[in-house]
Amino acid sequence: MSDSKINMATPPEGVTGEGFFATKLNDVVGLARANSLWPLPFATSCCGIEFMATMASHYDIARFGSERVSFSPRQADMLLVMGTISKKMGPILREVYEQMAEPRWVIAVGACASSGGIFDTYSVLQGIDKIIPVDVYVPGCPPRPEQILDGVLKLQELVKSESVRRRSSPEYQELLASYNIQ
Ligand code: SF4
Repeated sequence: MSDSKINMATPPEGVTGEGFFATKLNDVVGLARANSLWPLPFATSCCGIEFMATMASHYDIARFGSERVSFSPRQADMLLVMGTISKKMGPILREVYEQMAEPRWVIAVGACASSGGIFDTYSVLQGIDKIIPVDVYVPGCPPRPEQILDGVLKLQELVKSESVRRRSSPEYQELLASYNIQ
C-alpha cells in the first residue's frame, strides 16, 4: 500500500522543533480518546439495522477507531441508543448507562431515541434524555449510515475539546445530579 493512502489524524496545536513536539495534555488525551471510542449498541428496533450497515465493510466504522463493539457497559465509552425505548425499558437503559465507566458519551440515534418519534403513546419514552444525558442527537427515521457516522464525527469533535477531568467539573456534576445519578 502506498503512503498516500494513509490518513493521519490532525495533530493538536503545539510547539515543534527538531526531534520534539510539545502540546497540552488535554489535547493529546482528547485526540486519543476521540479516535478510539468503543461503542455499546443498545438497539431495540429498526435503527439498529442501520447501525449494522454502519459497522459493515461499506461504511466501515472502523475507520474512526470504533470497530471494537462492546456488549459490556464496563468496556465501552460510547453508548448508541437505536430504536424505540418503551417506558418499561427505561430503567434498564439507565442501568446500562450507570454501569459505564467515566468518561462516557451518549448518542441518540434516530427519531425514536431522540424524541419518541412517531410513537407519541403512553408506553413510549419521549426521548432518552428524559432519563440519561445525551451528547449527540442523530435525526432521521431511520437515519442512514452516513448520518450515524456524522453523529460519531460530531462526538469526536466534542471529545477532542473536553478536558481530561470532565467528570470533576461543577457543570458535569450538576448535570448528573439533575438526572439523580451519582
Ligand atoms: S426512528 Fe424510525 S427507523 Fe428508527 S427505530 Fe424509530 S421507527 Fe424505527
